[in-house]
Amino acid sequence: MTEAKRVPAIEGWYTMDQAQPHLLGSRCTSCGTYFFPKQKQFCRNPACEGTAFDDVPLSRTGRIWSYTNASYQPPEPYVSPDPFVPFAIAAVELEKERMIVLGQVVSGTGVEKLRVGMPMELVLETLHKEGETDKVIWKWKPLAGARS
Ligand SMILES: [Zn+2]
Repeated sequence: MTEAKRVPAIEGWYTMDQAQPHLLGSRCTSCGTYFFPKQKQFCRNPACEGTAFDDVPLSRTGRIWSYTNASYQPPEPYVSPDPFVPFAIAAVELEKERMIVLGQVVSGTGVEKLRVGMPMELVLETLHKEGETDKVIWKWKPLAGARS
């Protein structure tokens, strides 16, 4: 089997560790608020004037806060395959940071298998191929072994 080259579909938003991928966010050094995608210029917390941020890997797990079926081509930054295939999108509240991160749900898992509060984990999945290169994106997957 030939190993296809794997590159991120969006550079710098997540680690490429296939087994334990992490989204890469930033944390305001003044108020501790987490951001994803990374904030670099100013803190979005209206009560904070922070301008310094630490880069941090975010929790790999969280719980579904909301979900929907994407039956239309979503706007950027949701890079989608062409031709477009409907998929589920989950808004997941990260375990530690308590922030909501949207992502596609892994292929083969439709909205009928999802419910609010369901534990999810971050995985990497090929979004599309460019020649020999796999462009990969983060997705949410029901946490293996979790009770549903
Ligand atoms: Zn801040």
